[in-house]
Amino acid sequence: MIIQLDPHISVEQREALSQQIKNIRYKTTHVKTQFGEYLIGVGKQEFDIRRIGSMPGIRDIHRVSDDYKLVSKKWKVEDTNIELGPGLHAGTGNFTLMAGPCSIEDESQVVAIINHLVANGVTLMRGGVYKPRSSPYSFRGLGLEGLQMWHHHAQAAGIKIITEVMMVEQIAPMADYIDIFQVGARNSQNFNLLDALGEVDKPVLLKRGMSGTIDELLQSAEYIFSHGNEKIMLCERGIRTYETAYRNTMDINAIAMLKEKTHLPVIADPSHGIGLRSLVGRVALASVMAGADGVIMEVHPTPEKAASDGQQTLNFQEAGRLYQGLRDAYELRRQLERHV
Ligand code: PEP
Ligand code: MN
Repeated sequence: MIIQLDPHISVEQREALSQQIKNIRYKTTHVKTQFGEYLIGVGKQEFDIRRIGSMPGIRDIHRVSDDYKLVSKKWKVEDTNIELGPGLHAGTGNFTLMAGPCSIEDESQVVAIINHLVANGVTLMRGGVYKPRSSPYSFRGLGLEGLQMWHHHAQAAGIKIITEVMMVEQIAPMADYIDIFQVGARNSQNFNLLDALGEVDKPVLLKRGMSGTIDELLQSAEYIFSHGNEKIMLCERGIRTYETAYRNTMDINAIAMLKEKTHLPVIADPSHGIGLRSLVGRVALASVMAGADGVIMEVHPTPEKAASDGQQTLNFQEAGRLYQGLRDAYELRRQLERHV
């Protein structure tokens, strides 16, 4: 059960509400976000929700029996639109394109990519400065210094930054230099990290775990929301299956399913989703058709020389063509949607 409190609820009204909840023996969690105040109730007893819904000081009440509640469409039917920056929104009616290298490598790479993005009207740049790598001997990122260098150039060009945060301790030092925190597949169930990201007022792009179910992804999003941050985007980035012909299996179904289960924006990552440069474009287009609100993809001036994930990274020409294709696909989907 989700009870949304009226912002002007009085102390007496709160008291009356907790008495009612005690009567039905529900266990409650108090949630306060940038946008609202909620009581999440969990319990077994049957009762008429109108008894609580009609009390003064209550804005809204819904029965949501899933393990995730605040991110569920059962509570909030309309899709959420998230402000990523002034005049920049993610969610229904806005197609969100994010592109950049797997890893931030050096100043000349950063400047070249920013120029490419500006020329193509892409305003969000991805890139890792803290890289989760399977081998400890691989390049693990430039860290905070690299982020500061990147931020300096991005800000001058009006480009927003999305980058991965791997540890709670990195959040505060990174916050001044980034616009969106990315939680990588390997940290999708790092609940301490998710709790801590609930406490910052910055959008979070939460990736699905490599072997994570859709429900697990939604429950991870619930951690962030219930700790106070409603600005969440979910990301399908491919899952591990028995198939070895490509790096991951992009779960296109998940995009359609997530759009049905949650009001949060859903972003597709076709680069990690298939892991093969020649096929990224097709998978990206398919993701948009399946309902994605945006795409995040890897691009590099010379993918063959990239410090990480070069095999799935597009060069500037390939990326430029695809941005346009994706924008067209998004418009087309919106026209076709009435047929499904
Ligand atoms: C990345 O975005 O470069 C990355 C490491 O992604 P994932 O967490 O999906 O593997
Ligand atoms: Mn990568």
